Amino acid sequence: MADQEPRNEPLVTEPPAHTDGNGHRRGGPEQTVEFIAEWRNAAYNCFSSGHKFCREVCPVTQVTRNESWTPTAFHANVVAMEQGDMDIEDVAADYVNCTQCGACELRCPNTLFTGDFYRFRTRTVDLVKAVRALAVDNGVHQPAWQRWNLLTDERTHEPVLGEVPVSQEHVRDWAEGLDLPVGGENILFVDCEAAFYRTSLPRAVAQILQKAGYEFGLMQEQWCCGGPAAEMGYVDQARRFAEHNLANWRASGAKRILVLDPHDYISFTEEYPKFFGDDFDMEIVLVVELFAELIREGRLTPSVPVERTVTYHDPCRLNKRKGIWKEPREILRAIPGLEFKDVDRVTQWSYCSGAGAGLIIEKPELTAAISGRRMDQAAELEVDTLVSACPWSERPLSEAGADRSIGVVDIHEVLAESLGIEVGGRTSA
Ligand code: SF4
Repeated sequence: MADQEPRNEPLVTEPPAHTDGNGHRRGGPEQTVEFIAEWRNAAYNCFSSGHKFCREVCPVTQVTRNESWTPTAFHANVVAMEQGDMDIEDVAADYVNCTQCGACELRCPNTLFTGDFYRFRTRTVDLVKAVRALAVDNGVHQPAWQRWNLLTDERTHEPVLGEVPVSQEHVRDWAEGLDLPVGGENILFVDCEAAFYRTSLPRAVAQILQKAGYEFGLMQEQWCCGGPAAEMGYVDQARRFAEHNLANWRASGAKRILVLDPHDYISFTEEYPKFFGDDFDMEIVLVVELFAELIREGRLTPSVPVERTVTYHDPCRLNKRKGIWKEPREILRAIPGLEFKDVDRVTQWSYCSGAGAGLIIEKPELTAAISGRRMDQAAELEVDTLVSACPWSERPLSEAGADRSIGVVDIHEVLAESLGIEVGGRTSA
């Protein structure tokens, strides 16, 4: 890649004069000391310098070969900060270069060889998030992320790339004509990309649920899940959004939240429990798992042949982060007419789209390179279609696929087609 340096200089502003829940000032040396205390052991335990385990599975390293943007470097910086050789201002921009895919954690010798005995696991994703949060709390912002989060705060939804109108008023437009109730025990949460841009996806999901006779409603006032803010370091904002959504679920009598987007699934199963502890009283149901179960039980029977030769793109947050890879394959194998060519047998070391954790916002050229590499791997299998289960991966993968004559479709939409449901919305693959 020619453009390996950060395109934009971070804006260094005054640390915010806000305090945490204990009245301690956020930002500044005290918080850096706390950060180092939390991460120094993990940093010193990182013995992969010179090894190829983690960096060779890192999607960013694969396309840049930049040694400052590797899981090893992300740990080494903590040692340098502890030794007083570097400060958060020196390293913050490097941590943009991570999709929080989790591949390095799985491949790390520390995770592989000591995990079972010592119950230890390398946590690069959490480290990257912690550094980004430390940067924001110290007034060190990445320009595109800062704008993105300001706009998200203003609109209560992510701005969504491109010319798509985003506002609270339009968050349920995708459901027009489907006659869906508001509130109830089961709530379908639709992420910002799907609600405002890829509207064919939530329409397909809603219609499949209706076909299976599964009762559900929509939120009274849905806000962004807050996950992207948490991933980019804007933790206070993420918490505010989480507080709103949880209060709204409770007000409408919700017990179960149905989720179609892997990023929301991470927010609700990892971030929200961190924010609310034992008070978080919602069951989180991933729709792709639910659909596999409904097929198994005979409540959904795909019968319309879909004549495509496909492979499956494992979203990082489902496979590498959550170990969910069987159910999407179960669905694909239940669809008549579909020729399914799987990637390989080491499914947890699957490929990344490059879209995650804000990389596409701050460095779209890196996302495009990673997506291009992903589609090259699909092309080797001689397929005409790549099926994904993540709305955020589908735009960059579709762009990369266009050059290689490979279409990208969403797994929920393929299933809907096979159930005889007409799929359509604001955009399609
Ligand atoms: S989480 Fe993924 S993108 Fe980030 S350093 Fe690890 S392998 Fe690279």
